[in-house]
Amino acid sequence: MTEAQLLRSYVNGAWRDGVRVVPDIDPTHPNEAVASSSLADASLVADAVTGAYAAYSKWRGTPAPSRGEILRRAADLVDGRANDIARDLTREEGKTFSEALGETQRAASTIRYYAAQTLEPDGDLYPSQKPGVHLYTRREPLGVVTAITPWNFPIMIPAWKIAPALAFGNTVVWKPAELTPLTATHLMKAFIDAGVPAGVLQLVLGSGSQIGDALVTHPRVAAVSFTGSNTVGRALQAKAVGARKAVQLELGGKNPAIVLADADLDMAADGVARGAFLSAGQKCTATSRVIVAREVLKPFLDRLVSRAETWKLGDPLEKDTVVSPLVSAEARQRVLAFIEGAQGEGARVAAGGGVLRGNDGFFVRPTVLVDVRPEHAVAREEVFGPVASLLPAASFDEALALANDTPFGLSASLYTRDLATAHRFADQAQAGIVLVNLETSAAEYHVPFGGIKDSGAGPHERGKAAREFLTQEKTVYINAS
Ligand code: NAP
Repeated sequence: MTEAQLLRSYVNGAWRDGVRVVPDIDPTHPNEAVASSSLADASLVADAVTGAYAAYSKWRGTPAPSRGEILRRAADLVDGRANDIARDLTREEGKTFSEALGETQRAASTIRYYAAQTLEPDGDLYPSQKPGVHLYTRREPLGVVTAITPWNFPIMIPAWKIAPALAFGNTVVWKPAELTPLTATHLMKAFIDAGVPAGVLQLVLGSGSQIGDALVTHPRVAAVSFTGSNTVGRALQAKAVGARKAVQLELGGKNPAIVLADADLDMAADGVARGAFLSAGQKCTATSRVIVAREVLKPFLDRLVSRAETWKLGDPLEKDTVVSPLVSAEARQRVLAFIEGAQGEGARVAAGGGVLRGNDGFFVRPTVLVDVRPEHAVAREEVFGPVASLLPAASFDEALALANDTPFGLSASLYTRDLATAHRFADQAQAGIVLVNLETSAAEYHVPFGGIKDSGAGPHERGKAAREFLTQEKTVYINAS
């Protein structure tokens, strides 16, 4: 794609102009626009929903394995174009090229997985209590599904919403984040080139605050699947439920990693640093609170600080870069305010703590905070930046209580060599994803993914869980005697 490219919505088989053009900024070189995008208004959203509703009955009637063939082609196209897509993803979102490539390849695997799901049974056969009666259940699509996605995984999250929705026979109206329209366009093109019929997948580029209501309350929308912040998600949930839509929310996290005294400290420091600093900490599953046994606080801190100070922060297209810029100037400002606020409350910066000097990009140095108290804002709110806050604990019980002391419940990890403690943690950690001797970020495409408590609502995504939200069950009795 060329620098000057104007990105547009794709509705009913045609690229459509919006009402306002905005630049797509490169977070590493903020004076350069990667592209520009033409933002839709509510009337284009209405066209998209109406068109998706019109396309639904034919798509639903298409044999599931034929839908799967189209998805398989889309997966192959994403794989074949992965280098180009990843490069553009890095340029508009800022994560390193290797992370962008990995994400793109996982998106392709996700689409391929749901292509294969079209060959799986979609119901159960039961013995009837009545003679001669054929009794079974079947899962059917919902209709038009609205998918609203964030910028931090601009290809993988859309893939894990769109692919199962289409595989199970729904049509989709997709609004990607305003900050990542180029990656969205790549994914849309793969689906178009794979043969997804007009109207079945509609791409609407637009500002959530301007067209959000139209996307979630349109009478022809059956369900809304949203990934993003808690503030937007909860407001959207109220509107969508009020309009009698099914709603699935995947929201933020405040993910703890516990490091016990018997842990392999090098492994723990690697996992915590990766979880806290990769993608500049802009992951819903990022490690944010590090709860460390008092007796190993010093050796663990030394290891973490060493990684924060030596992992290269810089241009995400350069091979040896590990830590990348934040997505926007606002994001950088917010993260710096958290660091300053923490210092104001009594925390101390052990590493990082500021911007990358002599650089215009939205860089914040990987930061380790000590003397953080559980009540500090930096220990309670989602920072969404490369910041790890250390909290000491005297025992596993205290560490577990600290880990669970949050309204969020997305992921949680524990570093220990003790199997019994590992199982206790798996049982008692209040999180949708629990890991032992692994970083808090994990999202394999064939298993469920999602948060509990304030981190989500509705059935989880990914793996077989996706079918639960994206289909409805019907029970059929047939007396054929
Ligand atoms: P966000 O500001 O909530 O935006 C998410 C999406 O919602 C974007 O497409 C956004 O559009 C749209 N939106 C904004 N206002 C809207 C409205 N009034 N109605 C409907 N849609 C609206 O979140 P973000 O900053 O992109 O993403 C970061 C957040 O996502 C973090 O909290 C992170 O933890 C969470 N997240 C969660 C998961 C998970 O699976 N649990 C995964 C990734 C990210 P615009 O771009 O136009 O504003």
